Order: sequence, then structure tokens, then C-alpha cells
Amino acid sequence: MAQDSSMLDGTIASIDTAVRSLGLEDDMRETLVVPWREIQVGLPVQMDDGNVRVFRGYRSQHNAARGPYKGGIRYHPNADLDHTRALGMLMTWKTALADVPFGGAKGGVSVNPRELSTGELNRLTRRYTMSIHHVIGVNRDIPAPDLGTSAQTMAWIMDAYGSIHGHTPGIVTGKPIELGGSLGRAEAPGRGAAVVGCRAIVDSGSTPDQCTVAVQGFGAVGAAAAQTMFDNGAKVIAVSDVDGAIINTSGLDIPALLRIVLDGGSVSDYADADPLDNVDLLTLDCDLLIPAAIEDVITPENAPDVRASIIVEGANRPVTSVADEILADAGKNVIPDILANAGGVIASYFEWAQNIQVFNWELERVNRELDKKMHEAYDVTKAQADRNGGSMRKAAFDVAVSRVAETVKIRGYVG
Ligand code: GLU
Repeated sequence: MAQDSSMLDGTIASIDTAVRSLGLEDDMRETLVVPWREIQVGLPVQMDDGNVRVFRGYRSQHNAARGPYKGGIRYHPNADLDHTRALGMLMTWKTALADVPFGGAKGGVSVNPRELSTGELNRLTRRYTMSIHHVIGVNRDIPAPDLGTSAQTMAWIMDAYGSIHGHTPGIVTGKPIELGGSLGRAEAPGRGAAVVGCRAIVDSGSTPDQCTVAVQGFGAVGAAAAQTMFDNGAKVIAVSDVDGAIINTSGLDIPALLRIVLDGGSVSDYADADPLDNVDLLTLDCDLLIPAAIEDVITPENAPDVRASIIVEGANRPVTSVADEILADAGKNVIPDILANAGGVIASYFEWAQNIQVFNWELERVNRELDKKMHEAYDVTKAQADRNGGSMRKAAFDVAVSRVAETVKIRGYVG
């Protein structure tokens, strides 16, 4: 079996496959692969006990050919430069495929946010913002939440940035509504994943109300994906969060489960279900699987056991490169992250546009325009896959890389 690659190598391999299929030259390849700017910072933060801890932070600005850099900030113990770089690259292809006027970037701080108090997180976030404020900006680079960060984190960034540059709501997206956040932004990644999941179900000759669904991760992405699949009539039979997983083959009452989680509980507090091992959720007998937690969860070890015929990558890169080949050989349809979870950055674009115009959209408009963009991205990817006979991942990268290459060329960077 081939050696599985790191997330960064796997992402570059996807770019290289597109570069080859589009017949792009080496100088164009270099321009598309090498990040345009990266910053690494040391962040001394006073902890509640009076000691100072120095955290490491990153921002990888991968490509801004199509517009300002755009992408989340992740607080996670595994965050390092390579990891942040890989995620920044994925943002470039995601924004291009979704056809929103941004490039791609990602930020990260190596920290387990669950171990810090709110005050410590507040101080860490302000220190990080002060260390990168000169390379971000409404027309330069617009951060957003990602794993381990939230609307509250964005509020702190906006406040710290505003103390230097003046009130600037468009500096971050995914903010609290009270500070200029957009209605529908929080649910958008999950809603978008469900929209393309339903499209894949229909393309397979079925309908959502005939399908069973398992969702790994009941956080920002997974919960909204489960809710939207439920609203579309699908039977969501299993979900998980960091504390455990639950199953009920007759279907879970997702609105009831959401209420428990919104009240501060975990999915295991839901009474009408049996406990399940977190790892077993990924190989459950179901039609659609949505890994919406973290990367590298479907690996060469468990990929042969995946029984769902459609896998929707709610998280970024949950399927490793070798696992992807195993799933493809088994005839599984993997809807890739750059398509499946593009709903977040699409709604971020709407939020940014609202901030610039100082005008708020109603929820119905956000959802309508989000669904439209998700359908368009699905259509263009499916058409490319049908034309070339390859996977949805390959098709998505072909479309995205060709769009970015085109702007690089028009800007005159590469002939
Ligand atoms: N962190 C999200 C993602 O990976 C959203 C990024 C954004 O809205 O800028 O797509």
C-alpha cells in the first residue's frame, strides 16, 4: 500500500494533479504552490496564575490572485506552520470553486483552547491580533473562525484591530450579530454540506427521505449539517462529539439534540439513543457519512470498512490521500472539502459585503444566495467530473486551479 502523505503533501499532490490535467507550465505551478506570504509569531501571554506562557502563532497567506486573502484561525495543539499552510492552500481552492472574490489564507495558534480560561483566551487573541495586524485588513486578509475559535474570538480580534485602525467590522467574518455578523453565517458550513450531500443523493438515484446519515462532530459544521439533513427528510441515525457518540437506527430527533447541546450538554446526554464508540461511527451501515470534526479520520486502516456510499467532507481534509484512493476504488463518492464546506466562506463573503455596505441582509436572503452558490459550485464540479470521468475531488481541483491560474495570468505574473 502506498505511503500516506502529510496534509500538506496531500494538498500539494491535489494541486499537481490539476496542474498536469490542465497542462500548466512549471512557473505557473510554482506560483500556485508557494505561499505568497507567511508570518510566525511568539505570543507571550500572562496566565491566570501569574505565570507567562509563550504560544506560537502563524498566518499563511497562500494566494491573493482573485481577491484579499481569506480564511479561518484555528486554535489547536497540532497547529504548526505546515499544517496552517496546507489549510491556507485549501482556502484558495475553496474560494475559487465557490466563485467568491477572495484568495486563501489560514491562521493558527498552537494551543488547546479547552485548557485556557476565557480571560486567558481573550489575552492570547489580542496578542495574536497585535502581532499580525499589519498584514491583515478589509482589502488585504480577512480572518474568520475555525476549529477552536468562535464568534467571541472574532469580536476580540475586531476590537483589538479597531483600537489601532478604527472601527472596522469587515476585518473579520463570523462575528457576533451584535457587532456586524451576518444572520445565517454560523449555520452556513453545515447547511452547505447538506445541500451538496442532498445533490449527491439525488445523483445516485435516491432521495434524502430514503437515506440514513451519520455525522461525526456535532460542532459548528456537524450540528447544522445534521439539522439540514433532518429538515430534508433524511434519517440521521448517529452523531458524535468529543465526549462520545450515540445511535438510534429509527432516527434521532435533531432539534431536541440541538437544544441539549445549546444548553451546554453533550450528545451523550440525549436519552433516546444507545452509546456508540466514536471510531465505529465512521464505518456504520448508512447511506451518507459526514465527517465534520477534524482532518485525517478516514485513513487506510478504516477506509476499507466505510459502508456509506457518499462521504461529504464537512471538515477540512478528513479523508487522507491513500484513504481517498481506497474509497474511489470501492466506488464511493467523496464530496471534497473545498466543495462540501464552502458554505462558511460563502456566507463570510456575504458578511463582508454587508459590512462594507453598512447594510444587513435578512436570513432568508443569506440562505437563498448561499444555496444558489452551493448549487452552482456543485454543478460546475459535477460537469467537470462527468466530462473527465474522475472523482469529484479531482474535478473540484481542476476547476479551482484553472480559475486561479487564469487570474495569475491576467495579472501578468506568469505569461
Ligand atoms: N474556517 C472556515 C473554512 O475553513 C471558514 C473560513 C472563512 O469564512 O473565511 O472554510
